[in-house]
Amino acid sequence: MFATLSDRLADTFKNLRGKGRLSEADIDATAREIRIALLEADVALPVVKDFVAAVKERARGEEVSQALNPAQQVIKIVDEELVTILGGETRRLRYAKTGPTVVMLAGLQGAGKTTLAAKLALWLKDQGKSPLLVACDLQRPNAVQQLQVNGDKVGVPVFAPEAGNGVGDPVGVAKASVEEAKRKLHDVVIVDTAGRLGVDAEMMSQAAAIRDAVQPDEVLFVVDAMIGQDALTTAQAFLDGVGYDGVVLTKLDGDARGGAALSIRQVTGKPVMFASSGEKMTDFDVFHPDRMASRILD
Ligand code: GDP
Repeated sequence: MFATLSDRLADTFKNLRGKGRLSEADIDATAREIRIALLEADVALPVVKDFVAAVKERARGEEVSQALNPAQQVIKIVDEELVTILGGETRRLRYAKTGPTVVMLAGLQGAGKTTLAAKLALWLKDQGKSPLLVACDLQRPNAVQQLQVNGDKVGVPVFAPEAGNGVGDPVGVAKASVEEAKRKLHDVVIVDTAGRLGVDAEMMSQAAAIRDAVQPDEVLFVVDAMIGQDALTTAQAFLDGVGYDGVVLTKLDGDARGGAALSIRQVTGKPVMFASSGEKMTDFDVFHPDRMASRILD
């Protein structure tokens, strides 16, 4: 997803190679190139502005290490600033001190929530947890069944309304699932909620009602990294409508320009916690800002 950005930045750094010292003009030219590279990758404009200003200021400053040549120094600064916009530290999942940890997923239809629910369940299982998947998407035909299929794939039970698809009360299902988890000694409950194709007041109020009913330890906003700047408007709408603790980026394996996804942390103030990068249940990992920055600069 970030191949073009990587190439553009690599070209920029190449121009600095062999230079003994960076002149003001070199720094300006480099800053301009970085700005273009980020904008072409679809990084949000305010994020680009702050980023470039920080790089410029630091490149001019005296934090000059004798061990690094100017090109290496600029790469180091860009790397560190990338880590900063991506959130700095890795934000790990917080578990409840007592009782089952409740993780609620929210996002648009097609964002990859149902797939993500199962991936997260498998990841938790691999950490020695005993998760329970909960089907609260009672809107989309087949969503319950799809979660059941995914649950089977990863060997995690699915709690779903008896009545089948299209009927039932998602708030009631969510509440009952926490009781079920306590009875069956599951330590993490993953609640999959209904999305719509676009931002919609009814979807938001349903998600908010589920949130109020089960008081999740973590609300995760799931967003398709391929939808470009729409990811940012959707992220803001869910922040206002439901609120969330962290973000999951999906479809990072796509070939769209992923700069909007890179901006989400700066725009929302919420950390990216997980990344999903394929259709396989194992195409999933904790999001590490430093590793992502290294990948971009590789
Ligand atoms: P939901 O409507 O939010 O529950 O979304 P789904 O989980 O049904 O996913 C929508 C589509 O995206 C499905 O075809 C998934 O197989 C696909 N999908 C989900 N996550 C990824 C991913 O990380 N990479 C790719 N390439 N496809 C994904």
